[in-house]
Amino acid sequence: MEDVKTYDIAIIGAGPAGLTAGLYAARAGLKPAIFERLSPGGQLAQTEHLENYPGYNVNTSGFDLAMVMADQAFSFGAQLISEDVTSVEDMGTVKVLRTPFGTYWAKAVVIATGARPKKLGLPREEELTGKGVSYCATCDGNFFRGKDVVVIGGGDTAAADAIYLSRICRKVYLVHRRDTLRATPIYHDRLRELPNLEFCWNSVVTSLLEADGRLSGVQIANAVTKEQRVLDASAVFIAVGMAPNSDGFSSVVPLSPEGYVLTSEGVKTPVRGIFAAGDVRTTPLRQVVTAVADGALAALAAAEYLDELADMEEE
Ligand code: NAP
Repeated sequence: MEDVKTYDIAIIGAGPAGLTAGLYAARAGLKPAIFERLSPGGQLAQTEHLENYPGYNVNTSGFDLAMVMADQAFSFGAQLISEDVTSVEDMGTVKVLRTPFGTYWAKAVVIATGARPKKLGLPREEELTGKGVSYCATCDGNFFRGKDVVVIGGGDTAAADAIYLSRICRKVYLVHRRDTLRATPIYHDRLRELPNLEFCWNSVVTSLLEADGRLSGVQIANAVTKEQRVLDASAVFIAVGMAPNSDGFSSVVPLSPEGYVLTSEGVKTPVRGIFAAGDVRTTPLRQVVTAVADGALAALAAAEYLDELADMEEE
């Protein structure tokens, strides 16, 4: 085999799960490498406020917390490799990771690649992305200061986005396909109290409207009244759930029908030496607090696996 760099643990993804796995692995005296195709922080770095991370000051941004997590992991010796892992191969006691820039070996692997926003699949959605169609209110909301905007979805992301945008935009339409929000109850009253928010219940977006190459509004249809309506808006923020970033791993670990990495006993996949942590794995709760807990457990499980490997080599 070619001469390649070997790590004790290759952690794929530098969100809260991956950074915590790196911190715990480095503190355990192992040699972890954290692969990240973008900048560290994951979805946390795009979160305006965190109210449900125990002990954390809600006035500080998710971005700031993510940067502290990254500094902490790297200060203990986790190494950042800014490359996109496109595949992992299980060669038994060695796992082979490939990126567009090279090949790496690791004794153990932690998949912590998180999840990405789902698309609606509407015509013109792709071409209008960045021209009024967005999947990140905290990243793009400021471009639409003082304008009318639409948020689609009824979960925590849509609720948090609508609250954030109501502070900077003139009017926010919240379009949800049912008449009840999925979001955590604490958001419900907050949304109802917003003077510039209008709920569009039982409604789905049927088309994205365009003028001069930019989004100019959306057409919605009410499933109960059958009414069609046009909402003039400069931006639409799509918050209809997440899809796991598991492309590239389907040949090495089993995935659920939705594409999440199947795990049992917490973070273990059925493949010895490969673990999954955070939003990318099958889990009943996907929060920062569960991602960091997963990261710690994955580092521990990987360390135990490396001990077993060392014992086998001695025998
Ligand atoms: P989610 O909880 O899966 O909610 C997705 C929402 O989009 C649901 O209301 C769903 O409607 C709707 N939806 C799905 N597909 C749709 C479609 N094709 N057309 C129209 N509407 C559609 O996703 P999320 O809000 O992104 O949250 C993901 C995870 O992150 C959750 O576990 C959430 O708790 C967590 N999160 C937490 C916080 C927080 O704690 N502050 C903030 C953000 C995210 P139905 O309700 O009808 O299914």
